[in-house]
Amino acid sequence: MASQPPYAALPNDFKSLFTASCHCGRVQYEIAVEKPLDAKYCHCKDCQTLHGAPFQWAAIVNKSDVQFLPGVQDHLEFYKSDTQTPSKTRPDPPSKLTCRSCHSPIMDEGRRMCMLFPSLIKFPSRAALAPWQPTCHIFYKARVCDIPDGKPKWPGHKDDGEPMAEATLDE
Ligand SMILES: [Zn+2]
Ligand SMILES: [Zn+2]
Repeated sequence: MASQPPYAALPNDFKSLFTASCHCGRVQYEIAVEKPLDAKYCHCKDCQTLHGAPFQWAAIVNKSDVQFLPGVQDHLEFYKSDTQTPSKTRPDPPSKLTCRSCHSPIMDEGRRMCMLFPSLIKFPSRAALAPWQPTCHIFYKARVCDIPDGKPKWPGHKDDGEPMAEATLDE
């Protein structure tokens, strides 16, 4: 198993600000940043299916700012969505991580970044949660519900084409 972030043992200078946990608690990790590089709601069909939810809330952080607690590696399962390949051992990123026991989605591991799911983070206050709020919606064209929150709504990837106007599904 890998010895680099987010799998490395917690270095002494790692300043943990938040803890995150799966539903059963076997998978836990620490976060060292107050806010992500970006956060989005993704409405694409893959996210709907993989999360069993109308859309996904994801936040991007550097891998070096995330650390699994010791022993967590053995409780992870991996899935490469591009080839639909599951595995119990860590493949080359990118891959999707879930808890082997409760099957909560844990994160998407990229080569240098992780896409975290802030729903797993234990925020000590509403104020701590604010910087993790999404800046935009992506793949809004594939949405199954309307979110009239005034945030930019991209039909596909962020900054690809023009944002969509606020509209309702019945229009
Ligand atoms: Zn679990
Ligand atoms: Zn998506």
